[in-house]
Amino acid sequence: MQNGAENLRAFSQGEQDDIAAYAHRSGWRLDFGGKLELDYDSDHRARAVKAFRFSSVFILLIYLLLSSGIYLFMPEQDVVRWLSLYGWVGVIVILAGLMSRISLLDNWFAAYAGVGCFGSVALSVAVTGVVRDPVAGQLTQAAIMYAMVIIYGVVGLRFKHALYAGWLGGLAGTVLALVLGGAVDWGLLHRTYTGSSLLGMYLAYYAERRDREMYIQARLLQLANDHTAEYAGQLDRLARQDSLTGIANRRHFDEEMQKEWRRAARQQTPIAVLMIDIDHFKHYNDTLGHVAGDHCLRQVASLIASHARRPGELAVRYGGEEFLLMFPETGKEAAMQVAERLLQSFRDARLPQAPGLARSCVSISIGVAVAMPDTSMVAPGELVCAADDALYEAKHAGRDAWRYAAGISLPGDRDGMHSFKPESV
Ligand code: GH3
Ligand code: MG
Ligand code: MG
Repeated sequence: MQNGAENLRAFSQGEQDDIAAYAHRSGWRLDFGGKLELDYDSDHRARAVKAFRFSSVFILLIYLLLSSGIYLFMPEQDVVRWLSLYGWVGVIVILAGLMSRISLLDNWFAAYAGVGCFGSVALSVAVTGVVRDPVAGQLTQAAIMYAMVIIYGVVGLRFKHALYAGWLGGLAGTVLALVLGGAVDWGLLHRTYTGSSLLGMYLAYYAERRDREMYIQARLLQLANDHTAEYAGQLDRLARQDSLTGIANRRHFDEEMQKEWRRAARQQTPIAVLMIDIDHFKHYNDTLGHVAGDHCLRQVASLIASHARRPGELAVRYGGEEFLLMFPETGKEAAMQVAERLLQSFRDARLPQAPGLARSCVSISIGVAVAMPDTSMVAPGELVCAADDALYEAKHAGRDAWRYAAGISLPGDRDGMHSFKPESV
């Protein structure tokens, strides 16, 4: 299967069923049916035409070998008649070989190769009627057998096309021989033409069956590969996703943070982290139940995620009712603005709080920390700790508030961006 793999691609469910059904079916028909058959046909054609570019040269050499042998034995009175018919077989082989090199004609391979085979068989059979010499006559009979082996086994036609070309060509050749006034030796013709046709049919039929089985096996293999790749992708997504809210989980955050941290250190750009915690969520859960609590967590997650839209920004469910936002290339001022906008978006959303609290809507508290990563001094985990400390301050300040991790910022930062050294935490 030279081109088989190139033609394979993802399969629809219907195609998968077709392939699986065929793989478990046995029968004598050379037809998958439906789309599978069309796919096989174009796959087969692509391979056949490519192979024919080489085999046409081989066929021409065989033809020349055979013709030169016949010519040597051909008496003078028969030469012109013989050559005026058999010479055209050479022309057909050369023409077909040239056509196979024009890729625009690839879709027509079965047509031109089939017509060429038909013509070659017809001429080979017709020649036997016009050659009078017995020795040369026997050689022309041998030439018929060559022709049959070539059309069934070398040209690369599908079995059914070779069948039409072989039998119709034989019929046309016999008629032509009679029309040209020759006498057909039926006994001999059956042992050359008919016998080699049957043998060629048998070989071509089993060759196509084997080819079809290999085609199905290749497609099944591709199917299995597609499934494996799909499952691997799903597994990978699941491993990075929080199952309740669908946003990134802590594992994914850890990986992304490492990447962004290294990039920020290289490019000397700041990273901001916002640690977010739902206020009084235990009360919410205890009052309205766990199912309502889960529903609320999903709403909160989607609201938080709507603030992380640009590439590299990430919304994470960090723990039970704690979330985190990571913003690369974001300095102190910008991070504070995000925190303020986030708080406001919760106030605007007015998610109903469980009864029994002063606030009637679900609120959050935020700790903001920004660092200019410096791989020699700071680890990403320390930035998260700083944000967590700031969150603690926001809770103490009465909740529904944000605080900046001022204690961990060093003075003298460039452009208002705050670098972060672990010893100052
Ligand atoms: P604070 O304002 O200080 O943050 O108070 P709080 O009640 O939100 O904080 P606390 O840490 O005491 O309670 C967190 C609660 O979050 C405890 C638990 O009932 C709830 N929780 C954690 N994970 C889940 C979850 O996956 N589903 C649900 N429904 N609730 C959860
Ligand atoms: Mg809480
Ligand atoms: Mg908490």
